[in-house]
Amino acid sequence: MEILRVEGVNKSFGGLKALNNVNFSVQEGTVHAIIGPNGAGKSTFLNCMIGRLAPDTGTVMFGDISLTGMKPHEINQVGVSRVFQTPEIFGDLTLLENIMIPAFAKRDGDFALHPFRRVDHDAEIHDKALHMLEDVNLAEKKDMVASSLSRGDKRRLELAMCLSQDPKLLLLDEPTAGMSRADTNNTIDLLQRIGDRGITKVVIEHDMHVVFSLAEKVTVLAQGTIIAEGKPEDIKGDPRVQEAYLGG
Ligand code: ADP
Ligand code: MG
Repeated sequence: MEILRVEGVNKSFGGLKALNNVNFSVQEGTVHAIIGPNGAGKSTFLNCMIGRLAPDTGTVMFGDISLTGMKPHEINQVGVSRVFQTPEIFGDLTLLENIMIPAFAKRDGDFALHPFRRVDHDAEIHDKALHMLEDVNLAEKKDMVASSLSRGDKRRLELAMCLSQDPKLLLLDEPTAGMSRADTNNTIDLLQRIGDRGITKVVIEHDMHVVFSLAEKVTVLAQGTIIAEGKPEDIKGDPRVQEAYLGG
């Protein structure tokens, strides 16, 4: 069954056509990768799907729900979470608090009340946050301030923040960007482990190594256009893909 369907998305920045009539769909329960050289339009595409950018034309359907025109927090509320290329965490707060905030927002639907003030009073959210930190191997650091984490740990924290919202669809923009090989492998392991929960994942990647260990289907974007789509083993040898990477 299809969980996400994007049709006819175009997006220009001034004279630059960042996305050119992109059609894209994702099957429920799968890991679907979007790859392509730097500047291909991958992040722009993700931002169009999660309401950070408004496409010039086109529609985005999440199951029966039209995400077109919805605000990012509304899209989040219906079950779509995302990890950005640059981690978006609350640097001054502890790891535990960082996870409780999105968990509160998902459950209660309000940021306005500064939910972290209720931290000590909500055992359900507290326990959930702790469980999520265990999942990403950060439980020992739960009382540390988030800004003190290494880059790899920050990304793991951000992933735990997303998972605390029990998303149906998780979109990840280069989850291993800037990581050492060891951290990259840890992150791949982690993404494989959380794969069992039935969360559909769209992983945007520059690093093909990451994609081939994770994805069941790969879509290749180059200069704003989808140039190839298929199983990783077919994509690997596709001359159009090799050319796009070499030229990119
Ligand atoms: P990728 O994530 O594949 O590296 P991006 O989606 O970030 O690519 O960028 C696609 C193209 O759009 C690039 O040429 C980039 O410079 C341009 N671009 C992205 N965001 C903006 C913006 N806000 N304003 C102007 N140009 C942008
Ligand atoms: Mg990008």
